[in-house]
Amino acid sequence: MTHTITLIPGDGIGPEVVGAAVRVLEATGLSFHWESQIAGAAALATEGCALPEQVLASVRKNRVALKGPTGTPVGSGHRSINVELRKRLDLYANLRPVKTLPGVKSRYDNVDLIVVRENTEDLYSGLEHVVVPGVVESIKIITEKASTRIARFAFEYARTHGRKRVSAIHKANIMKLSDGLFLDCCRAIAKGHPDIVYDEIIVDNACMQLVLDPTRFDMLLLENLYGDIVSDMCAGFIGGLGMAPGANIGEDSAVFEAVHGSAPDIAGKNLANPLAVILSATMMLDHLGERAAADRVRTAVHAVLREGTKLTRDLGGTAGTIEIAEAIAVKVAGV
Ligand code: ATP
Repeated sequence: MTHTITLIPGDGIGPEVVGAAVRVLEATGLSFHWESQIAGAAALATEGCALPEQVLASVRKNRVALKGPTGTPVGSGHRSINVELRKRLDLYANLRPVKTLPGVKSRYDNVDLIVVRENTEDLYSGLEHVVVPGVVESIKIITEKASTRIARFAFEYARTHGRKRVSAIHKANIMKLSDGLFLDCCRAIAKGHPDIVYDEIIVDNACMQLVLDPTRFDMLLLENLYGDIVSDMCAGFIGGLGMAPGANIGEDSAVFEAVHGSAPDIAGKNLANPLAVILSATMMLDHLGERAAADRVRTAVHAVLREGTKLTRDLGGTAGTIEIAEAIAVKVAGV
């Protein structure tokens, strides 16, 4: 069976790390048809639109995409393509596993966290306006519908993946209505899952507890903004952004992409760590029901990391993006 996948190389290091992931996926021997779609800065230059309709149409049709990072200008310019894509395709669940990998120097051992982030609302609603010059308002939207479905996603994930505990992270002591509603929804769903331990932690305390000892946690359930910040912090526990994979999952389609951004500072230099996208690709294989191939890729990644001779600069090595992908691909093909 051939898997038809929408491929969005993206901006900055995107084409390099997505190319590396494709090299590894091809080495599994599975059959892929890649439907390449341009989004981001390149699309803005050629089509006048950073997220052309045909990109959305392709993901809707194929229901699965592998995506590289797309840059978002700070302060002004076009809206984030990531935010737009997640909203337009209703990819409501952002799943970000954070797991210590062998051979990677980091401050903690045995980290094994699952971050579940709501992906469609909160301060990412894009509703900002100037009230009077010198005063702006940014609107945080929290709904019962979105909070309930992300909580349900987290608890169901816990059940199907043998997880024991879900911690809702919030600031309901200050945002009593919005974060209060989020917690009400989490509690309601938790009641229906008595087999999973449920607790609540205020976001500032959660960050402190995580930094003290991330192994105390199992699954984190967060609104959009806290989820973005906390998951970048968690990536730091396991060797940085180059190691952190992710998935955006909806009822109809799923887009797999690393936590990191387009890293313009190292783009085009063969310096980017492709592991985050390669690990995102293993999540895609799981999603496609190709568990055995996903395990082969994970095993190959672990073997290359353990050997320690083909590591990118962020992991203390000198290998390039292409070399590490090649080393993994050779192992995948050879297993
Ligand atoms: P965005 O706003 O798109 O999330 P960002 O501002 O958070 O982007 P990133 O592009 O994620 O920033 O990069 C943050 C830092 O991490 C940069 O110094 C970048 O070089 C580094 N970095 C990100 N991804 C990788 C990678 N795959 N390999 C090596 N270094 C990376």
